[in-house]
Amino acid sequence: MKKIKLSFLALSVLSIGLLSSCGSDSSQTTTEQTTQTGTPAPDATPATVTIEISGTDQMKFDKSDIVVHEGQEVTLILHHSGKLPKATMGHNWVLLNQGVDMQAFDEKAAKAGEKNDYIPQDAASDMIAHTKLLGGGESDTITFKAPAEGAYDFLCSFPGHSSMMKGKFVVMK
Ligand code: ZN
Repeated sequence: MKKIKLSFLALSVLSIGLLSSCGSDSSQTTTEQTTQTGTPAPDATPATVTIEISGTDQMKFDKSDIVVHEGQEVTLILHHSGKLPKATMGHNWVLLNQGVDMQAFDEKAAKAGEKNDYIPQDAASDMIAHTKLLGGGESDTITFKAPAEGAYDFLCSFPGHSSMMKGKFVVMK
C-alpha cells in the first residue's frame, strides 16, 4: 500500500516536471510543430476555402454543386460574367438555411425588390449568407463560416431566376 502511494507521488512529480518544462520551452515546441506541418497529412482540412462562382447573361450559374467542410471559413466570390445590367439580368448568391422553402423565399425576395437586392429584410433567419445583386462585369466577395454538416440550397433570388440558378451547397465533416 505504501509502495503504491509512493509511486503515485513520484508520477505526480514527474508530470509536474514535464508540464513545467513544456511551459518554459514553448518556443522549441512551436518550431518542432511547424517542421512537422511542413508535410501535412493528406486528409488535413484547410481552415479556409475560396469558392468562385459566375452567373451569366444566359441566366445560369457555372456551378451546381459546391463542397466545403464543416467549420471552414468560406470566401465566396460571385462574378457576373455577362454584360446585361442588373435591372434586367441581375444575379446574387443566397445560401438558405435547411428547411427553408425556396419558392416561399423567392416570393419574399421578389417583394423586397431591387432596392434591397432581392434580399428579404425580414427573413434573416432564412439565410446563412448572401451577396449583393450584381450587373454584368461586377463581382462581390463574402466570407462566412461553413454551417453544420449537411446539404443546403443556394440560389439567385432575382425574380424568376431560381428555376435555373440554383444548386447544392454541401458541407462535409
Ligand atoms: Zn440571377
